[in-house]
Parts: sequence; structure tokens; C-alpha cells
Amino acid sequence: MNTPETTAETDTVICSAKGCRAPAVWVLAWNNPKIHTPERRKTWLACEEHREHLSKFLGMRGFLKDVVTLEEWSATDH
Ligand SMILES: [Zn+2]
Repeated sequence: MNTPETTAETDTVICSAKGCRAPAVWVLAWNNPKIHTPERRKTWLACEEHREHLSKFLGMRGFLKDVVTLEEWSATDH
């Protein structure tokens, strides 16, 4: 329930930025130490355009753990 459903590789995943309908290329893995255990990872999806904006948002709060391409993220077992 914690990660977006990416059931089939053919499914288009959409950027998490508000109002954006662009296909996501990046996965931003983050964790809020106040509410999550350290190993827990929440994910946001970002298109090329919103990657910087979303990582800054999370980075400013000290939540951002990792930014990887969607391809890379799907290749690893989570
Ligand atoms: Zn976007």
C-alpha cells in the first residue's frame, strides 16, 4: 500500500507533480524520520521536468534518500 502500483512494465506511470500528466522517468525515494522507520521508503515519481523541483522539496526537509531512474528502480527488488 506504500508504493504506487507498477504492475506491468507496459503501464505508463505518471509524474507525481501536481497537475502533471507527463510520463515519469525518475523515482525519488524518501523517508520522513518522524513518522517512518529508517528502512521505510516512500516514493514519488517524476518526469524530466519535475525531478529537480520534487527533489528540492524533499531535500529541503531532509527527507530525500535516493533519486534513480524508473528503469533502475524497477530492476531492483523492493
Ligand atoms: Zn512532471
